[in-house]
Amino acid sequence: MPGEVRVRFAPSPTGLPHIGNIRTALFNWLFARHHGGKFIVRVEDTDQVRLVPGSIEAMLEGLRWLNIDWNEGPEVGGPYGPYFQSERLDVYQNLADRLVSQGNAYHCYCVQERPDQATRDRRASASADCKCRHLTQEQISKLKAGQDSKVIRFAMPEEGVTKVNDLIRGEVEWRNETLNDFIIMKSDGFPTYHLAVVADDNLMEISHVMRAEEWLPSTPRHLQIIEALGYEPPKFAHLPMIMGPDRAKLSKRHGATAIGEYQDEGYLPEAMCNFMVLLGWSLDDKTEIMSIQTIIDNFTLDRVTKSAAIFDQEKLLWMNGMYIREMTPDQLAGRMMPFLERDLPKDLLPVDEEYLRRIAPLLQERIKRLDEVAKQIDYFFRADEEFDTETLVQKGMDRDTTLSALKAALEDLNATDDFHHEKLEEMLNVTGERLSLSRRQFFGVLRVAATGRAVSPPLFEMMEVIGKDRTVSRFKNAVERFSAAG
Ligand code: GLU
Repeated sequence: MPGEVRVRFAPSPTGLPHIGNIRTALFNWLFARHHGGKFIVRVEDTDQVRLVPGSIEAMLEGLRWLNIDWNEGPEVGGPYGPYFQSERLDVYQNLADRLVSQGNAYHCYCVQERPDQATRDRRASASADCKCRHLTQEQISKLKAGQDSKVIRFAMPEEGVTKVNDLIRGEVEWRNETLNDFIIMKSDGFPTYHLAVVADDNLMEISHVMRAEEWLPSTPRHLQIIEALGYEPPKFAHLPMIMGPDRAKLSKRHGATAIGEYQDEGYLPEAMCNFMVLLGWSLDDKTEIMSIQTIIDNFTLDRVTKSAAIFDQEKLLWMNGMYIREMTPDQLAGRMMPFLERDLPKDLLPVDEEYLRRIAPLLQERIKRLDEVAKQIDYFFRADEEFDTETLVQKGMDRDTTLSALKAALEDLNATDDFHHEKLEEMLNVTGERLSLSRRQFFGVLRVAATGRAVSPPLFEMMEVIGKDRTVSRFKNAVERFSAAG
């Protein structure tokens, strides 16, 4: 690739960041990393009316969570924050003035109030029949006597075509006469997206503009401003749309929520990245799970599809489960900890790390999201489970056989100090046979006594982890409560 690759992610803080935004960030970041280039984050906060408080923080937090790091910012020497367009207003004003003096733009007197929604609507219709482009000096002087206009429109060429050779979509062209004179400076002194994006892509020496397909129709406007300012155009690459499995525009209905929600729900950042990269890119036609290094090594634009990508929530869940299984128990325990601290009842905190490391492998096969953990493991922590003792009675058993099973098991457990799971199984197997109970029956009783539930991780491995004291205490409790209830 000739010259340095410099790409940018340019979010507008107008709402919580969703999968579509972050996929754009990820693709840009991967492209920069693949080419040893720079990835820049630039907050496009020029639309003050639509600014949603907290959305910038949520965006940056999402990027940090996913380890999508950026290389530059306004501070010299770092730590680098992102760029904010609202801090660069004079840059855009100077360019707009230059475009006016060159005759490529003109002041518009149609709409001059604050750009609230009603004004925006009026502007949209004013764009269609604005006559300010052809005002004479005399007319302008008269208008100016009343009110000076800060609104500036770009004068689109009235004929000819504007072409882009998009790296993903190929050649696309627009007839200039179909594009109206759009606003580049607003009455509040802020530029519109079109001017600011062109200015900053040039000043920040962006080599490739990679963004969602919805911005393709803006590209001829950008190219016209670029030409008027005498800039070298960057290369453009418009990423395919993301749709739900029903081929409708992606929405909450498809399970797609703000990126922070995935974090809260216990998705792993590496699984999220792997999942998102497949929304429009592929290594080949079969590989799904890939390390981030493999993705970086292979991330070229010829592998990006033109056709829409389908967001499949089930696949994300499956993938997250796969990533959970691939972790070492220590890693998994480390990842579980914040979820337990958040979700376990306060009386069970703090969690003993060493104990958690022994619990982790027992849950590894059974969970797909980290927020499932607390619900599944509080019995590892509770001294005695409160449960309905009638659930101890297994199919084909009655109260007497259940009670003798409990007592026999308690006796065995009390008598041994070897709580290795294989030893426990061997010992209790013999007892079950002696009592003429099937494994399903006897172990069913044991499971409920040990955990208070009918479903749990492997019984004996779990008893080993819970340890003798807790296990024996639970069996005593079960015997007492069951006898008392009878
Ligand atoms: N601010 C635009 C957005 O919200 C950026 C579009 C672009 O990347 O040019 O997506």
